[in-house]
Amino acid sequence: MTIKIGIPRGLWFYDYYPLWKTFYEELGAEIIISNPTNKNLLDKGVKNTVDEACLPVKIFNGHVIDLKDRVDYIFVPKMMSVYKDEYICPKFCGLPEMVEHSIPNLPPLIDTEINFNQSRKHIMKTVYEFGSYVTKNPIKIRKAYSKALQAYEEYKDKISQGRFPIDGELTSKQLMLNNKNKKKIALLGHTYQLYDRMGSMDIMKKLQDYGVEILIPEMINMDVINEKAATLEKKMFWSYGRKALGTAIYLKENSDIDGAIYVSAFGCGIDSIIGDLFERWTRKDGDIPFLLLTIDEHTGEAGVNTRLEAFIDMIDWRKRDEGNLPAHG
Ligand code: SF4
Repeated sequence: MTIKIGIPRGLWFYDYYPLWKTFYEELGAEIIISNPTNKNLLDKGVKNTVDEACLPVKIFNGHVIDLKDRVDYIFVPKMMSVYKDEYICPKFCGLPEMVEHSIPNLPPLIDTEINFNQSRKHIMKTVYEFGSYVTKNPIKIRKAYSKALQAYEEYKDKISQGRFPIDGELTSKQLMLNNKNKKKIALLGHTYQLYDRMGSMDIMKKLQDYGVEILIPEMINMDVINEKAATLEKKMFWSYGRKALGTAIYLKENSDIDGAIYVSAFGCGIDSIIGDLFERWTRKDGDIPFLLLTIDEHTGEAGVNTRLEAFIDMIDWRKRDEGNLPAHG
């Protein structure tokens, strides 16, 4: 009988989904992905998560609930670190425990620990552990992993070329078209918030409807971001923070953009620091208009629309006739 593995469409999903899907499908498992975030799923997530958790964790729990009665396992790895000497976030580190203690009647979780602070040998041990839920054959696991890595690299390439994942699929729409007449806006935030249509209030679509070109950090060469982040006085040991701050420095130095929007998740400790630093840096020379949008489960779409409209109007005024208008309006 084919083993069914459920992959929740949240948190690390938009970064690594092709890797794990390919891995388990190569091993012969059937992959079932939760439905795109909707109101019902969000409400269930909110109801089954402690109030203090950030919005993306609540959404993640909603996706776990969506899967729990139709799969043999749910994939909820314990992601300690994906880059050496860094961590993702305490919530990622304790995710399997949070899920288990929040949601009753779950099938077994695939909760293997991922920790790139360990040796390479240990990382391969981790891969075998992930594979062992489907097969005990190490050769099969090794082959599946190498195919999975290939799928992951192809996925990253596509994103860097301006395609982006929405609801788990890469859209064919180019974001930056290098059209000199279009406004260009850098859009920052966690991938699991930006690429989730409901979690982001569909901000990408809204910006595109305004005729705006979007630059996301995944479209900037990672080596460049790392190089910029390395100039920080103190190493940023949260991986997401390093990426956001490296991007902020890059934008400050190569400001061919007309504005920057930071989409922050309510309840995120890392965002409260990074969002503030990002804002200070983009405005340091008063050059880049900046908008901070904090989204939680109560955020209304009308409020987001109004703020976006006002922000885009401000960019237009600055471009058209008031180049000395301060970046903060
Ligand atoms: S980084 Fe922030 S938004 Fe992401 S899981 Fe951690 S607290 Fe939540």
